[in-house]
Amino acid sequence: MAAVCNGKLEDSFMVPEIKFTKLFINGDFVDSVSGKTYETIDPRSGEPTARIAEGDKEDVDLAVKAAREAFDNGPWPRFPGPGRRRLMMKFADLIDENVEEIAALEALDAGKLFHWLKAVDIPVVAETLRYYAGAADKIHGETLKMTRELQGYTLREPIGVVGIIIPWNYPSNLLFLKVGPALAAGCTVVIKPAEQTPLTALYFAHLAKKAGIPDGVFNVVPGYGQTAGAAISSHMEIDKVTFTGSTEVGRLVMEAAASSNLKPVSLELGGKNPFIVFDDADVDTAADLVLQGSLFNKGEVCVASSRIFVQEGIYEEFSNKLVEMAKTWVVGDPFDPRSNQGPQVDKKQYDKILSYIEIGRAEGATLLTGGKPCGDRGYYIEPTVFSNVKDDMRIAKEEIFGPVISLMKFKTVEEAIRRANATEYGLAAGILTNDLNIANTVSRSIRAGVIWINCYRAFDIDCPYGGYKMSGFGRDFGMQALDQYLQVKSVVTPLYSSPW
Ligand code: NAD
Repeated sequence: MAAVCNGKLEDSFMVPEIKFTKLFINGDFVDSVSGKTYETIDPRSGEPTARIAEGDKEDVDLAVKAAREAFDNGPWPRFPGPGRRRLMMKFADLIDENVEEIAALEALDAGKLFHWLKAVDIPVVAETLRYYAGAADKIHGETLKMTRELQGYTLREPIGVVGIIIPWNYPSNLLFLKVGPALAAGCTVVIKPAEQTPLTALYFAHLAKKAGIPDGVFNVVPGYGQTAGAAISSHMEIDKVTFTGSTEVGRLVMEAAASSNLKPVSLELGGKNPFIVFDDADVDTAADLVLQGSLFNKGEVCVASSRIFVQEGIYEEFSNKLVEMAKTWVVGDPFDPRSNQGPQVDKKQYDKILSYIEIGRAEGATLLTGGKPCGDRGYYIEPTVFSNVKDDMRIAKEEIFGPVISLMKFKTVEEAIRRANATEYGLAAGILTNDLNIANTVSRSIRAGVIWINCYRAFDIDCPYGGYKMSGFGRDFGMQALDQYLQVKSVVTPLYSSPW
């Protein structure tokens, strides 16, 4: 069966009611100061879905004022840890209770698979909150030994008002892996969701209020990057910015932070992630892992495996198997449970991916399957596999962020390491082998923030995740993420009552 854009668009179904379209500032849904709104688009059809209040600098100022007041004088940072823990747990329970509605909003906004969102992504959002809620009453400093007759200890204090800027590919998960530790630490937040996908962040705002999170702690300002986003990264009253998005915009965020109040930033950026398949790998398992690693979420994944290095002994067999599997990968409506892949998020992303497919052809890579749009409306693209890809081709070097797989042949372990590392990015890598020596050598030699051996995209809330090189710095997930929202204060007194 060919990869189907299975013509079921008309059969569907649920378009969730969109209840929240205004900015959320200081516990209330409000219009933007300018009164401006913008349209979000259903990627299944290209038709408008909602009009969203468009935040700009003045709105960011109001949100920061509320967050500043909540941080400087409000109860949130002053609660004993269990106070924050209980409210975060309540927030998580409300997310679970509304999982279907949240999943539907996100599927509509981003073209992500509804059933996966309902079964996995949104429950993981609630679990992420619970994970960090459990840490809220366990944040403590150290007693210092000191080298003189001094008594010293450290306090770990919340960093303050946090600006959160996120992209459209995982609007809920990426938000909460920042909101979770920030709230647990006692920070207040101003969130700018991606302009394409504001619906779930606004829905979460209403749940935060319902859970009893105090006004001003959780603020959401949808809007465009150059306006609302830039206002956050350059704001003098924001104490830290955590950003996930492209390397290009990450650089702008860091520049704005440096030229305003020198706020610290953490950056989770792009990737061009190698997946290295050695001769001893089981071909069926390898093809399945590569297919999932590359095409999952329509390839709109920062850790998508986008450079597949296959050792020469199994190259032909592997590529035949991969193509056979890609042809059964169902492209269709994200609300249809038979779909493996929904539409790309918007026209811009759709055009960009199709242009990279043209570039791959023009550069001389061999197109084994796919390569075309599918369906007569919306932003659907066939799963696409290129073979004979060379390291210096643009499709091997630049992030495509779409359902495009590039196969490259290699001979030796050393060659695989050298070529896998020949990129400006360093986000993730995969290794498939049963040889422990190879697995150990390669995992320690690849310069990337996460290495998956005999698995891929195996995320866990407890496992820190972030980039090397131009994939950014700072770590989300795990207890390490908490450090990004805390700062250390040393307190020193004389040990005896000697005058100093
Ligand atoms: P993007 O960088 O264009 O936008 C990300 C966010 O930044 C959006 O909210 C956007 O409005 C905002 N923004 C744009 N210009 C801005 C500016 N001048 N100042 C402040 N904010 C601004 O990225 P995208 O296209 O939304 O997302 C795709 C990118 O995100 C890919 O490069 C992908 O690899 C990356 N990503 C990385 C991770 C990770 O964890 N490393 C996860 C998901 C996505």
